[in-house]
Amino acid sequence: MELKELQKLIYDAGIVGAGGAGFPTHKKLSDKAEIIIVNAAECEPMMMVDHHIMQKHLHLLVETLNMMLDVMGAKQAIIGVKGKNMHLLDQAVVKDLENTRISVKEIPDIYPAGDEVVLTYETTGRIIPEGALPISVGVIVSNMETLFNIWKLFNEHTPVVEKYVTIGGDTERDMTVKVPVGMKISELLEACGYTDLEGKRIISGGPMMGKLIDEKTEVVTKTTKGLLIFPETHEVIQRRIRPMSVTLKRASAACCNCHMCSDICPRHLLGYNLQVHKILRAAAHSEITDTENFTQAALCCGCGICTVVACQQMLDPQAISVAVKGELAKQGFKRKNNIAPEHVLPERAGRLVPSSLLIQRLGLQEYIKPKVMRDMRTFSPKRVYIPMKQHVGAPAVSVVNVGDMVKKKDVIARTPENLLGTTMHASIDGKVIEVSPSRIVIERV
Ligand code: SF4
Ligand code: SF4
Repeated sequence: MELKELQKLIYDAGIVGAGGAGFPTHKKLSDKAEIIIVNAAECEPMMMVDHHIMQKHLHLLVETLNMMLDVMGAKQAIIGVKGKNMHLLDQAVVKDLENTRISVKEIPDIYPAGDEVVLTYETTGRIIPEGALPISVGVIVSNMETLFNIWKLFNEHTPVVEKYVTIGGDTERDMTVKVPVGMKISELLEACGYTDLEGKRIISGGPMMGKLIDEKTEVVTKTTKGLLIFPETHEVIQRRIRPMSVTLKRASAACCNCHMCSDICPRHLLGYNLQVHKILRAAAHSEITDTENFTQAALCCGCGICTVVACQQMLDPQAISVAVKGELAKQGFKRKNNIAPEHVLPERAGRLVPSSLLIQRLGLQEYIKPKVMRDMRTFSPKRVYIPMKQHVGAPAVSVVNVGDMVKKKDVIARTPENLLGTTMHASIDGKVIEVSPSRIVIERV
């Protein structure tokens, strides 16, 4: 198969990064790639989707990697797995990988091991330059579920119509379930028995980087990885509820300029010119004489270590940096003064953040269960609400009309091929009852 053909098939199947912002996978594939890195770090606490995929489907991922290596002409694939999770891998498959193009690399149990800049360094020793994509150092990084979606495309002729999601937190039991894309989150939680939500709020994603959502209006998308339920009074919720005006006031009143937030920043430690204390002070004191201080925010991955681990004054440099980064992106700002670090800071080894410390600082101990069930029940929602933008790039445009009958897996929308984007499919059989630029609603009949 030619690379272009693989890209077209992946675009048609609507495959996007299943664990992050949803970068369209076909745009990542390149004949310039030397190494495919598989992100099996699952670095946010309480997320278990990758655990289940690596435990059950390693042999299928290996099959997919071999195909991708052939098509792209890449030399090797590295599966980055934390030491504590190595026992989850099928040891017979691991043994068969000896002396092949595919290897399993043990990575430390640190946060954020899954950040692609950190993961690329930990698995290959290469540092992605500031503001650049991994391909600039000859690598592409793929999440486990994304690879599994490619396997399903070739072996089950299935586009992305379902998503694995871990549900947990302040619950009796946690579970990972397979959910039709577009199912309402409130309906999903109810179907799984999570009905006692009084005084609780939901985070979509992990406790560090996840977003606070309204479960009544939000739906499961191609990138939903976890739904965490916490009491509204818990700090992981309070931090997300706090208005930015209050966050800035607190920063302006209490920041002592100790720069511990910058000293521990994982990207700073890899040599990036990212000093979040300067971003915070510039924003909090409206000190915009030096725009460099603001534009450094474009290099932030939003991991939250600066807030959760570093700041002893309980300030929130992460929120400020992410807000500044968002504003820069909205304005179409492209940072020009990027550097390509050649060396990591010598103090990095002593400043890595173990996952156990993170769990303690976040106050998550009481919510972590010894076992997370893999629950394979089938959900049959009456309606699904398919968002036209579940990915990085331009929204998809409907190719169906109100009243059309559709079957599960039918194409219902596409981003024009000349733009960055992907394809959307019906996740249930039914009738199209609403079409708008933001979503398509299908009702089971
Ligand atoms: S760690 Fe906190 S107090 Fe110190 S510079 Fe950063 S934001 Fe200010
Ligand atoms: S959130 Fe903080 S620690 Fe993480 S990359 Fe951004 S500035 Fe660095």
